[in-house]
Amino acid sequence: MAHTYDPENIFAKILRGELPNKTVLETAHTLAFHDIYPQAPVHVLVIPKGPYVSYDHFAAEASDAEVLDYTRTISKVCEMLEVGEKGFRLISNAGELGVQEVPHLHVHILSGRPLGRMLNPPA
Ligand code: AMP
Repeated sequence: MAHTYDPENIFAKILRGELPNKTVLETAHTLAFHDIYPQAPVHVLVIPKGPYVSYDHFAAEASDAEVLDYTRTISKVCEMLEVGEKGFRLISNAGELGVQEVPHLHVHILSGRPLGRMLNPPA
């Protein structure tokens, strides 16, 4: 599948410093920051710095260094947020059916309250 990256998406602007963000952790290849509309007491987004649209795009095309850095940064952020013991949810929406709003790969880390079932039943 072709993954066409739009360099004008909001997270690309954050990475270029054109929009502010509340950084949790920044590494060579990865940025973690607070979601602007938190849906739980803990709601952090983790994005790679490279131009990847979705998780499958990143997993297929990112370098080993990017994949390792991204994965380890998610782990470090979970540690910093102290979510490991009580629990948390990782979500990465992709495409139209996944209801992805921002077309730059991001993992949501959600915690701090009971998060309910993973999916709502279809309407
Ligand atoms: P998704 O539906 O998975 O694409 O989620 C996009 C997320 O990005 C939403 O939770 C938004 O609240 C969040 N968001 C949008 N703009 C910003 C921004 N400028 N800074 C931080 N989070 C944002």
